Amino acid sequence: MYIEVNDVSVKYRQKKSEFQALDHVSLSVRKGEFVCLLGPSGCGKTTLLNVMAGFEKAAEGSVTIDGEEVKGPDIRYVTIFQNYGLLPWRTVRKNVELGLETKKLPKAERSKIADQYIDLVGLGNFRNHHPHQLSGGMQQRVAIARALAVDPEILFMDEPFGALDAITRMKLQDDVRKLSDEEKKTIVFVTHDIEEAVFLADRIVVMTPNPGKIKSIVNVQLGAARDRTSDDFIMVRDKIFEIFHMKTDRTVEYYI
Ligand code: ADP
Ligand code: MG
Repeated sequence: MYIEVNDVSVKYRQKKSEFQALDHVSLSVRKGEFVCLLGPSGCGKTTLLNVMAGFEKAAEGSVTIDGEEVKGPDIRYVTIFQNYGLLPWRTVRKNVELGLETKKLPKAERSKIADQYIDLVGLGNFRNHHPHQLSGGMQQRVAIARALAVDPEILFMDEPFGALDAITRMKLQDDVRKLSDEEKKTIVFVTHDIEEAVFLADRIVVMTPNPGKIKSIVNVQLGAARDRTSDDFIMVRDKIFEIFHMKTDRTVEYYI
């Protein structure tokens, strides 16, 4: 498997006690797969993503990517956060160039690649704008362009559309799904929104809190072109809603 999470536990020290944010979590992700981590607030989604991306250290267990143990963040994978993380004093183009600056490319080449990804996310008319001149959805598109410009093998996304209105969110979900189909990136995407997970994922990892664990794995059998209003889609969504509320003491795998 491409990404292997092996029996990972994470504990946070709180005033007098220890809090178990992840309790012996194991998960494998195939290359090119789109996996959603789904669960209520506090179930350890961000913690698990951060352990995979190398931002957080596991107390027990390990993560490997392509056979190598993850010891810290790596240029081969990028993370997109809910708050976009753009530099306000830089233009759209300069923000997108940011990741490319660590690659030793001539300046003209950098701008060319940046422009290509700015076009890809539909912001061709806004290259010289600053983040504050853009809507939230447009800013998140800049963040996506910046992430893609470095041609990462893996995209880690932590509730990237959480702060956006429903219409914009759907548009960006379409874009990200298309990206996954066309560019074959491996994507691990955190959300607490069942519908978002059903729209995006090849596989949904349903998590549960106190302590953070994987409750079930849902292999989504809907094809690549998904229609939020189709009977199949609604059936899968309702089934996951049921799974969400089911009580189990071991991880159950579904194919729906
Ligand atoms: P989620 O992303 O699913 O909302 P998190 O991974 O952010 O969950 O957090 C899981 C649990 O760990 C939560 O109960 C949270 O309060 C706790 N937690 C997260 N980060 C820390 C920290 N740095 N120190 C103490 N507790 C933390
Ligand atoms: Mg979170």
